[in-house]
Amino acid sequence: MCRHLAYLGPPVTLSSLVLDPTHSLYEQSWSPQDMRGGGTVNADGFGLGWYPEGDAAVSGGPVRYRRNVPIWTDENLPGLAGSIRSGAVVAAVRNGTVEMPYGQAAVAPFMLGDWLFSHNGRIPGWPESTLKLAERLPVADLLRVDAPVDSALLWALISNRLSEGAPPADAVAAVVLEVEAAAPGSRLNVLLTDGEQLVATAWTHSLHVRRTSDSVTVASEPFGDAGWTAVPDRSLLVATATTVQVTPMEGHQ
Ligand code: GLN
Repeated sequence: MCRHLAYLGPPVTLSSLVLDPTHSLYEQSWSPQDMRGGGTVNADGFGLGWYPEGDAAVSGGPVRYRRNVPIWTDENLPGLAGSIRSGAVVAAVRNGTVEMPYGQAAVAPFMLGDWLFSHNGRIPGWPESTLKLAERLPVADLLRVDAPVDSALLWALISNRLSEGAPPADAVAAVVLEVEAAAPGSRLNVLLTDGEQLVATAWTHSLHVRRTSDSVTVASEPFGDAGWTAVPDRSLLVATATTVQVTPMEGHQ
């Protein structure tokens, strides 16, 4: 399964999160350690999403760089990632699920308005298992999904709830539970941020969190310095740069 991370805190370079640390996301693309049977390498593309600082932030919203090649083949990435700083970052490397399409549009992070979203996992029985959920979405939302993959539908379901005013934690929890009900055995580790708050789930995949006095990082697999804690399975994590709350998801309203 894919590997992903999110960071909230003082501005840091993208490379200090994604490329430089020991067992970085970069290394996790060819040598992940906890895939739980979901593939062996994450070579079907990669994406970085971040919220620009200073003048670059004038237009507002996040910026994304995603490609449909293995992250280690992009010779421009080290220079770019070393020269961009941000205080809110989402990054992912993809292992496309069997029968899902290949291509840049299928790679996380997905983006809408201020939001960045990533999914690590799969929905079994796709797409038949999700038809009833998809039918409830406005047709325009379905026509706008980036790619016909489970992750993009998941994002359409969650962003639809956000657009109706649901708080992000409630939108994520409700969709994870309804997808699990429709497609039991789903793997639904997601990351959602607007640059200020972060919502993440551990739903049958690995997730770890690392806190410092002024930052929070969550990642499929620990990297860099020690200080990581495993997030229990079937949990919802809600964080800002200085707060983290982890709650069991079953029964979340
Ligand atoms: N199912 C999603 C995809 O095909 C996510 C893949 C993953 O987590 N390996 O892109």
